[in-house]
Amino acid sequence: MTDGMGRTIDYIRISVTDRCNLRCRYCMPEEGVERIPHERILRFGEIRRIVAVLAGMGLKKVKITGGEPLVRRGVTDLIAGIRAIPGIENITLTTNGVLLEEMYDGLAGAGLDAVTVSLDTLDPARFREITRRDEAQRVIRGIRQAVLKNRIPLKINCVPMGDPEEQGILELVELARSQPIHVRFIEMMPIGPGTGFPFVSEEAVKGFLEARVGTLTPCSDVMGNGPCQYYAAEGFCGRIGFISAVSHKFCSECNRVRLTAEGFLKTCLQYDTGVELKPLLASGCSDEEVAAAIEKALRSKPSGHDFGGCGQTAGAERRGMSQIGG
Ligand code: SAM
Ligand code: SF4
Repeated sequence: MTDGMGRTIDYIRISVTDRCNLRCRYCMPEEGVERIPHERILRFGEIRRIVAVLAGMGLKKVKITGGEPLVRRGVTDLIAGIRAIPGIENITLTTNGVLLEEMYDGLAGAGLDAVTVSLDTLDPARFREITRRDEAQRVIRGIRQAVLKNRIPLKINCVPMGDPEEQGILELVELARSQPIHVRFIEMMPIGPGTGFPFVSEEAVKGFLEARVGTLTPCSDVMGNGPCQYYAAEGFCGRIGFISAVSHKFCSECNRVRLTAEGFLKTCLQYDTGVELKPLLASGCSDEEVAAAIEKALRSKPSGHDFGGCGQTAGAERRGMSQIGG
C-alpha cells in the first residue's frame, strides 16, 4: 500500500492502552491524566480485524505500544492473534520493562519477534526522578532475564534529556559491549511535556560517546522497522543506534501509520490527520469499506512533520506520546 506521495506503508504502531505504570516526566503529567473509558478502547477483535484488513493491503510489520502495553490484560493473546494473521511477518513490542520479567515467557510463547525496553538511565535515583516511580530494579531484572533466556532479540531505547554524563548514557551503552543488545538514542520530540525539555542532539550524544568508547562506524547489519542509523564500536557485541526525527528528518522515507487505543488511524506523528475506525467497525461496514476509508486517509498523509529544527516547539498536538504510542 502506498500513500498520496508514493511512500510504501507496511508498518503500523498500535497503542493498546492509554494507561501506564510509570509517569515519565517528558511523556505524562503526574496528575490529571484523563483515562479513556473502557468502552471507548478498541477490543482485541477490533484490533485484529483492522490488522487483517491492512495486511490485505500490504501491511507486514506491527509494533505493540501504549501507554504501557504490558498493563493491558491479555496482551500476549493479542500478540499471538496478530502473529497468526496471513501477511504479518514481524510483530514487536515497546515496553517500559516493569512487567517484562514476569511476562517474558508468555511473550516469547506468543511469537513476539523482538522487544524494545525504554530505559533512560540505569541509576535508580535518576530513574525515579525521570519516571516518578521506584521501579529501576524491576526493569533491570527484566532486561537481565531477557538476556539470559535469549528467546526474543532485545533493544534498549533511551531519550537523552540533559547532561549525558549525569544521565548515565555511557553506562547504558556499556550494556552493548558484552551482550547482543542494541542501545538506541531517540531525540526528544516537542510533543506533550517533552516540549519543555532541553534538546540533546544526536551529534551531542555521538560526540560524548566517541570520546569514551572510540570511533562509531556506520553499519547496516541490524534489522528494524525504520529510520534508525546504527553504528559499531570496537569490541562491542551490540550496536549503538540513533533515531533523530528532529536533527535528521526522515519523513521522505516514512513507512508507517499509527492506531490509537481508541481506534483513530493516525497518518502522521505530529498531525491529527487520519480516520476514526471504531465507529466505522461498529456501524457494521464490510472489510472493503474499512479498506476504502484507510486508503482515503493515506492519500492525505502529510509529507512530513514540522518540528521546526532543534529544540523549537511544534504546533500543538492534541494527544500526548502516551496516547500516540511513540
Ligand atoms: N510505555 C512504553 C515505553 O515507554 O516504551 C511504550 C509507549 S512510550 C510513549 C514509547 C516511546 O516514546 C518510549 O521509548 C518513550 O521514551 C518515547 N517518548 C515519549 N515521549 C517522547 C518525546 N517527547 N520525544 C521522544 N520520545 C518520546
Ligand atoms: Fe509510560 Fe512509556 Fe510514557 Fe514512560 S514513556 S510515561 S513508560 S508511556
